[in-house]
Amino acid sequence: MTSGATGSEHSASKGTIRVLQLYPRDMNIYGDWGNALVLKQRISWHGYTPELLEYNVGDEFPAEVDLIVGGGGQDSGQLVIQDDLHSRAGVLAGLAEDGAPMLVICGLYQLFGRFFKTRLGTVIPGIGVLDVETHGTDERLIGNVKVSTPEFGEVLGYENHSGQTTLGAGVRPLGTTPKGTGNNSSDGHEGARYNNVVASYLHGSLLPKNPAIADFLIGTAAERKFGAFVQGTPDDHYAVLAREHAARRPR
Ligand code: GLN
Repeated sequence: MTSGATGSEHSASKGTIRVLQLYPRDMNIYGDWGNALVLKQRISWHGYTPELLEYNVGDEFPAEVDLIVGGGGQDSGQLVIQDDLHSRAGVLAGLAEDGAPMLVICGLYQLFGRFFKTRLGTVIPGIGVLDVETHGTDERLIGNVKVSTPEFGEVLGYENHSGQTTLGAGVRPLGTTPKGTGNNSSDGHEGARYNNVVASYLHGSLLPKNPAIADFLIGTAAERKFGAFVQGTPDDHYAVLAREHAARRPR
């Protein structure tokens, strides 16, 4: 055990938190990989040991997973992963039901829902973890977004999608959109929440600018695995700067 002025930095790990990134090869656009990196860094700052795993089409699904993160993708990427995703529907739905924390962005948000009917009319069935459905349109929703949320304060990010998502009774929105579009061009809300699943259209990446969501995911993983979340002292300097910058950007 190290002692002295920097001793606390070297204190023993509070335990390992295993993060699984879904389909980074095919579903990872507009910086979504950054979400996994933020989780890794903040898990360390909180005094736990991060283990970052990737799951791509055809891989073996890891036995023990504490936190799941997945990004967005082109319609073509969604078509590539759809069969494999369906082969993992049982384990993913089981984890979501059991309270495992998950963050799914844009393309995977759509495929965690009931279906995504693309602009060209192809129906990509989802795995139904979320009670939502998505219809591709000719209008692309692009730009910076501000979301007022009851759980995470003001959430900032960037959207770029043709799919418009309608929420069913089994989910609630992440928040409302004073700037930007979010789920669809009529309802004025963005994202979806179910159990400890956070779904959002926002890239950019989302978590560097929204550490409250990152800490919710990490805290939930720690509570689920160890019975409590003992917070550390993350360095939020860059997150604060990123939020200031993102908040000033035009639509
Ligand atoms: N292909 C989907 C759409 O355009 C998802 C896009 C994305 O993940 N950014 O709606």
